[in-house]
Amino acid sequence: MTALKTRAELDPAMTWDLTQIYISDEEWEKEFGSLDRLLSRFLGCKGHLADSPAVLKEALEADDALSLVMERLYVYAHLKADEDTGNSESQARMDRISARSAEISGECAWFQPELLAMDEALFNEYLNADILSFYRRTLEEIGEERKHTLSDKEERILSLASDVLSTPDKVFSLLNNADMRFPEIVDDNGGKKELTHGNYNRFLESADRNVRKGAFEAMYDTYAKFKNTLAALLDSQVKTGVLESELRSFPSALEASLFADKVPAGVYNGLIDSIHRNIGLIHDYFKFRAEILGLEKLDMYDIHTPLLPECRLEVTWDEAVKEVCDSLKILGSEYHSAIGQAFEKRWIDVPECRGKRSGAYSSGCYGTPPFMLLNFVGTLDSMFTLTHELGHSMHSYFSDRNQDFHYASYKIFVAEVASTTNELLLHHHLLRKADDLKVRAYLLNHLIEEFRGTVFRQTMFAEFERDIYAFAEEGTPLTADLLCDHYFKLNQFYHGDGVAPDDRIRYEWSRIPHFYYDFYVYKYATGFSAAAALARKIIAGETAPYIQFLKAGDSKDVLDIMKDAGVDFINGDPVGDALEFFRENMLELRNVMQQLKPGK
Ligand SMILES: [Zn+2]
Repeated sequence: MTALKTRAELDPAMTWDLTQIYISDEEWEKEFGSLDRLLSRFLGCKGHLADSPAVLKEALEADDALSLVMERLYVYAHLKADEDTGNSESQARMDRISARSAEISGECAWFQPELLAMDEALFNEYLNADILSFYRRTLEEIGEERKHTLSDKEERILSLASDVLSTPDKVFSLLNNADMRFPEIVDDNGGKKELTHGNYNRFLESADRNVRKGAFEAMYDTYAKFKNTLAALLDSQVKTGVLESELRSFPSALEASLFADKVPAGVYNGLIDSIHRNIGLIHDYFKFRAEILGLEKLDMYDIHTPLLPECRLEVTWDEAVKEVCDSLKILGSEYHSAIGQAFEKRWIDVPECRGKRSGAYSSGCYGTPPFMLLNFVGTLDSMFTLTHELGHSMHSYFSDRNQDFHYASYKIFVAEVASTTNELLLHHHLLRKADDLKVRAYLLNHLIEEFRGTVFRQTMFAEFERDIYAFAEEGTPLTADLLCDHYFKLNQFYHGDGVAPDDRIRYEWSRIPHFYYDFYVYKYATGFSAAAALARKIIAGETAPYIQFLKAGDSKDVLDIMKDAGVDFINGDPVGDALEFFRENMLELRNVMQQLKPGK
């Protein structure tokens, strides 16, 4: 294996050009120096918001001006730090902006409480003032929060207690990431290897069933030893959520969490109901998997191993760019010329190099290109990562160019929609031209696995989360036994007869960090479903609503933005529609695997 190149040895054409943010580090320093002036403009309004609508407008504008510059300073610093984590100058710059941002957000914390403390009649008057019309949407959102805001004294108590209330999450993360140790297991070469969070999935993908089984058992036997501590932590986390939602007069912790996105509980429950109605689809997939792997039933550790381990496709960078661009042609010339810039104007940092941050992401800020960090290694997965990140970047690009800074950043509810839509379009494009049966099978299975992991699995988590909060709200303590039994039951329901009940899976809840993020995971499933619905429309020739969606930013409520794009979570069933897509691909995979059978 050749050694990784250093950053200096890379072909500049394959790296991002960050001079599009600041011409030089000195320019960054100069702007960093302007933060005090921007901050004092904002602080000048403190204590005066109720004076007049003009003062409130000045405060909102000063806040925007400050946030824009902070974002730009931060983005440059973190991209520089990530391209070479060994560069101490870049790391120091990152530390400085992080520390300054934390200070500034502390100094700006007065704004919302002061606004919420305003006399209600006066606030409503401001809400209708012409001079504030641009900010009306933001003010209305703040107005909604008034209903759930407590007295000054109570808010102060809650804010002083917030650090203590975040203890369960902190303790879980320390136990899970730092203190827990897993035993050694036997790897594919017969050697011994310490199991870690990092290598667990690789072991589960092994073609050797004993390796998979060994990793699975070692993982859950370790968690089982800590089951009471882990149950007490999750119980405290859930109780904290229930307590806060009660104090703030929400009907439930679920509704308190969905409030910020203005998503009704019906959408959350609707997702679970849709999956229940279609659960047979995933059961069939597991039975099919068992058949292909030659097993009577799958065990939980047989779910991740590739169906076609021998199929490894190599893709050069130029081929990846061509395929991705071709797959997106369907979106029309406006979209296509935007992605052209990504490649021509060096928005992408392509190759691996020494010290570069691993993984991939899209990041930028208002007024700069939406840069992408990749670690392209010439595989099919790398090509999918390129189109995924390009999807994020195009969403930012179109939102930034069509919305004012204040309303440009889209919400997390829609954050994975554009990236997933791109993946689905690439999938469609590659499948249409692939003659080789093995390649077709690989592509189909890739898509089905995405569905399994993102739609079915995350909905199972969402259901578990909903149920344990409901238990807590009824006053039922979340003991280890209750959590294990309930999880085991749900897991059986989501896997069906094709998967043998393995007792160890009852501990899986205890290793999922997302259960400490308060009703977050459902967004993976709704986002993927929305993308599947959009991709089907695009393939059928309907692209305009999708481009509208990309341009909408945060200019409307997320469910309205989705509805404008033809994805109606209130009256329609986008999840059910997405599962039609799953069904079609599953049918095709059966077909292809049938033809691939030896002797055919
Ligand atoms: Zn993403």
